[in-house]
This record gives sequence, C-alpha cells and structure tokens, in this order.
Amino acid sequence: MIKVGINGYGTIGKRVADAVSKQDDMKVIGVTKTRPSWEAKMAIDKGFDLYAAIPENAEKFGEAGIKISGTIDDLIKEVDVIVDCTPSKFGAGNKEKYYLPNTVKATFQGGEKPEVADVSFNALANYEKAVGKNYVRVVSCNTTGLSRALYAVSSNLKIGKVRVVLIRRAADPGDSKKGPINAIVPSVKVPSHHGPDVQTVLPDIDIVTSAVKVPTTIMHLHSIMAELKENTTAEDVIKIFENTPRIKLIDSTDGFPSTAEIIEYARDFGRPRYDLYENMIWRDSISVKDNELYFFQAIHQEADVVPENVDAIRAMFNLASKEESIKKTNKSLRI
Ligand code: NAD
Repeated sequence: MIKVGINGYGTIGKRVADAVSKQDDMKVIGVTKTRPSWEAKMAIDKGFDLYAAIPENAEKFGEAGIKISGTIDDLIKEVDVIVDCTPSKFGAGNKEKYYLPNTVKATFQGGEKPEVADVSFNALANYEKAVGKNYVRVVSCNTTGLSRALYAVSSNLKIGKVRVVLIRRAADPGDSKKGPINAIVPSVKVPSHHGPDVQTVLPDIDIVTSAVKVPTTIMHLHSIMAELKENTTAEDVIKIFENTPRIKLIDSTDGFPSTAEIIEYARDFGRPRYDLYENMIWRDSISVKDNELYFFQAIHQEADVVPENVDAIRAMFNLASKEESIKKTNKSLRI
C-alpha cells in the first residue's frame, strides 16, 4: 500500500485526495493547507489528517479550533510520495526544500516547468517513461486533453502538421480572485505555451497552438486541425476515439450544442463535484476535408488530470502496466 501525501488541498489537490482514497493499492496519509479555512475544516470532516503546509502557521489552526496532525515536515516523513498540488511555480521550491532532502518521490502539476521532473506525463501517451521515476510532472489540463487525442490519432494514422486553437476558461468556478470579467483575451504570442508543452509528452508531433481566454468558468474548448498523410475518413477517426480510454464521444444533435449542456449532463451523471475526467469530443464535429482532420473537444479543467495523477503514482512504484493502471483507475472513478 503506497502512502500518499497531498501538498495543497485546493482545486486539484482535493480531487486527487478523493481519487487516491478510492484505490486499493494506495492511501492518503494526510493533506496540507497553508492556513485555517472552510476547505481545511472540510478536509477533516472528510476524514483526512490535516497538516500545516507552512510550519510557521501551525498555531493559527489551533487558534481557529482546527486540529492538525503536524506540519509538512511531519507529513513528509510518513509518506512514500507527495502529490504536489500547490499553486503554479511553488512545486519547484517544495522539491528543493522538502522532497529532495527527505528522498520522497513526488508528482507535480502542469503549472510547474518541465525541468522540475524526470518526465512530463500522460498515462495514455507515455506511462512507461514514468516507471520507477522519482519526480513526475502530470501535464496541465489542456496538455492532458491534447496529448490523449493526439496520441490516439498519431498512433493509428500517419499525420503531419497539427494546429490547435484553444478557447480557455478564464477562472475556475470556485475562484473569485480574477474578479468579474467582460473580455476576450488573446494570448498574443503564437505559439501559446500549450504546443511546446504537448511536445514534452509527444516530442514527434509537429504542433502549433494559439489560445484565447473567454468569460466562462466551466470548461476549455479546443478546435483541432491535423494534416493527414494517408487516406482517412471521419468514420476511421470516430472508431479510433471509440476505442480510446478517457475519450467520450457526444453529438450536438443529441442535446450537446455547447459546454453548458455538457456540464448539465455531468451534474446529472452524479460524479463528485460533477467531474468529467474524459475528453468530450463532438462526434459530429469530426470531419475530413482535403486531407485535413478537424474536430472540437471540451475539457473539464478541474478534473481531467485527476486519474493521471493516480496512474503516475502507479508508474513511479511500478505497481501495474499502463493498461492495468488505466483500467483500475477508470473503474474506481466510474469512467
Ligand atoms: P488552487 O489555488 O486551487 O489550490 C492550491 C492549493 O495550494 C490551495 O489549497 C492553497 O491553499 C495551497 N497552497 C498555497 N500555497 C502553498 C504552499 N506554499 N504550500 C502548500 N500549499 C499551498 O490551485 P489549483 O488550481 O489546484 O492548481 C494547482 C496546480 O495544478 C497548479 O500547478 C496548476 O497549474 C495545476 N492545474 C490546475 C488546473 C485547474 O484548472 N485548476 C488544471 C490542471 C492543472
């Protein structure tokens, strides 16, 4: 049983904590928060042992009536691996301060630079590269979605240039830091960082991305265009996606004209926090024109990296093959 600590119980951390709790080969030893808050109380209510992420803040928890089991220094001594879910760019410092000196393995998230880890990870695309590694970076929500779809296409078909336009959610639903919004913000520098990030997982893909932020919180949307180097029909591509794990095909004509209906479906489906771990690809958007493949996919940014963190842990401890791990994680999360 692999002992897991979650450093940073926020949007991603709380989801990974719940997902790890559902596995039979790993368990959550504790989670960290920087200061007392309703999320800290919620962690305890859910049965997780809470630790202070910033040791100097430990007393503040007691003052707020929240019982902690120690600080990050204590948690680190009890675990085999830390899932670092702290905000972007904090993970690298945590590695130097806590994980390296205590020889504890760690997974990092997509907000970290690739250099923080031995490998940038997506279970479907490069599970084997993480086997036995100490530091693994689970790529961002957008890169995870793109890596899955492009791995599926490129491992079945000869493709050339890939071009993607990302329409990005401006903030997460639970985040008010970015304030009321009324704007569309282009990432004026092309390529956006997403293309090079996909190449950390799939180095042979010739990809250029541009990105735009829009005033929505629920999902990202990708418009993907790929040059085809062999005779291919839309039906061929549909079959590939039908046989790829963590990809779900939907139809606009079946009541899914937009991301709003997808999230309504997710609410009705009843996973925790309406999480959609899969790429939601519009089947009726998949088309081939003049040797070029086109399709749209929607990505639930808060959720798609969650099963990837579970698989990353299995790979790091060589607990299962890629296929076994994906299957096991999917079953436990009702994917
Ligand atoms: P978040 O702000 O929701 O949560 C971060 C958590 O870390 C909070 O609980 C915060 O209290 C805690 N924290 C802050 N400083 C800390 C410190 N010094 N030590 C320990 N904990 C600290 O952030 P998030 O959205 O969960 O993002 C975490 C990582 O996941 C980032 O790298 C981000 O880029 C990546 N990611 C985010 C999303 C998304 O859509 N939210 C999707 C994929 C990947």
